[in-house]
Amino acid sequence: MKVFAVGRNYADHISELQNERPDEPVIFTKPETALIKKNAPFFYPDFSKDIHFEVEIVIRICQAGKNIEERFAHKYYDALALGIDFTARDLQNKLKEKRLPWDLAKGFDGSGPISNFISLSEIEDLKNLNFSLKQNGETKQEGNTSLMLFSFDYIVSFVSKYFTLKKGDLIFTGTPKGVGPVQIGDVLTGYIEDKKMLEVNVK
Ligand code: MG
Repeated sequence: MKVFAVGRNYADHISELQNERPDEPVIFTKPETALIKKNAPFFYPDFSKDIHFEVEIVIRICQAGKNIEERFAHKYYDALALGIDFTARDLQNKLKEKRLPWDLAKGFDGSGPISNFISLSEIEDLKNLNFSLKQNGETKQEGNTSLMLFSFDYIVSFVSKYFTLKKGDLIFTGTPKGVGPVQIGDVLTGYIEDKKMLEVNVK
């Protein structure tokens, strides 16, 4: 199974990190060992002092595809979940300065907590879906899929030019503004609309 992620897909988050607005989606991958399921805890790693949460909508691929046209892309994903793209921001900034790949900052064990999946048939409007993250009960991030620079369909089409997509592959589709550091003892809770989807205890 492959796990893709999109960087810089919400304009308000691009501004907060003072990044450039991309012409094409910024794609990176996380290994399968990054995923945390069933609200298992996140263990703060000792190689970073600045782990940030990034709440994201995650889509699940439902059939194999290569060079998928954007207009057919909707047939290739059938469910979504809420995920957190944990990022070792201190490590990422060091790597960015040296123009090195982000893998160590984005793909480490436990860097991808993920909720159960909701079938797309249960989603009223995929293009206008609210999601949010609370840290110890306080809302830190609020996003809506209408604000993505690149749509789910465009992302699926784009990724499939480079990687054959297979059933079960996941795509983290980017975070809105409000990212911030976590501390040991924090409880992060994630929501799609008003439904609590995810709880992560930082240990
Ligand atoms: Mg992210």
